[in-house]
Amino acid sequence: MQIKELYARGRPVVSFEVFPPKQDTDLADIYAVLDRMSELTPDFISVTYGAGGGKNSGLTAEVASFIQQNHGICSIAHLTCIGANQERILDLLEQVKLKGINNILALRGDLPDASTTGSESTSPGSYRYAEELIRDIRKQGDFCIGAACYPEGHIDCDDLSFDTLCLRRKQEAGADFLITQLFFDNDFFYRFIERVRGGGVTLPISAGVMPILSRRQIERMIFLCGASLPSGIIKLLYKYENNPGDLCRAGIEYAAKQITDLIAHGVDGVHIYTMNKPEIAEFCMKHTGRV
Ligand code: FAD
Repeated sequence: MQIKELYARGRPVVSFEVFPPKQDTDLADIYAVLDRMSELTPDFISVTYGAGGGKNSGLTAEVASFIQQNHGICSIAHLTCIGANQERILDLLEQVKLKGINNILALRGDLPDASTTGSESTSPGSYRYAEELIRDIRKQGDFCIGAACYPEGHIDCDDLSFDTLCLRRKQEAGADFLITQLFFDNDFFYRFIERVRGGGVTLPISAGVMPILSRRQIERMIFLCGASLPSGIIKLLYKYENNPGDLCRAGIEYAAKQITDLIAHGVDGVHIYTMNKPEIAEFCMKHTGRV
């Protein structure tokens, strides 16, 4: 099934994100996680590709295929293009197709060295932006294509109008739907929707929600993606400074409240960054009103 069809059903699309293991030998662990998550019947599950510098790229299609074959749940394989040439991308698309996957989340990927710019870190003939990848995937037959978007603007981009323009270019290149980066203040998301709809972006947009599990995780994430920390979160970090267990519980509850509010505002979809934890998926799922 193509994910774009799910958005046409007239109810919020609920999806989970998982990451593949670093080694083939650990596949059983993620399969056990997926056995539990599939009982929650999300509309689709996405599988990351080399996120956070992990050397697990080859297992993305493997795990995405497991989700479809063993649980009958639609899956989407993330694919990044930075530093890759067209031949490599066509090869990867062929591998994904052979595994029966026809949904791709087309991404640039994080630059190898955050201190370099896109043009310096890519070699001649290699991709620089997700838009180029989307255009090439569109030429390769019947893929449904998702793309990333950023309620507070991408961390490399300090001009929100340019950010909107980049998003419209992804739409024009052939993207079918969008998933946002995490955010902790729903007002950023609502303002973003207003901004991009005003800028001509008409695609369905799922709101990405990541529960806070620890202070370390949150510090790493805000550094990587530049999301703002609202005072509600800062208060939680302060209150549970010496109590990681309570911080984790409070973080998941905070995310659940975000989800309830997003659903009440009639969002197209909610994408839950599960961090491979079925209990997070379950708690968040309850707040979508689905179970
Ligand atoms: P792009 O859309 O190419 O944008 C990157 C930057 O370039 C932006 O600042 C944009 O303003 C600018 N830009 C775009 N087009 C142009 C242009 N024509 N001219 C000049 N500037 C331009 N990373 C992984 O490695 N693996 C994953 O599995 C993964 N999954 C993700 C899932 C989601 C839902 C999200 C939101 C992000 C994910 N990422 C993942 C992170 C993503 O790769 C990074 O955020 C990356 O820095 C940007 O990717 P992009 O596809 O948005 O890039």
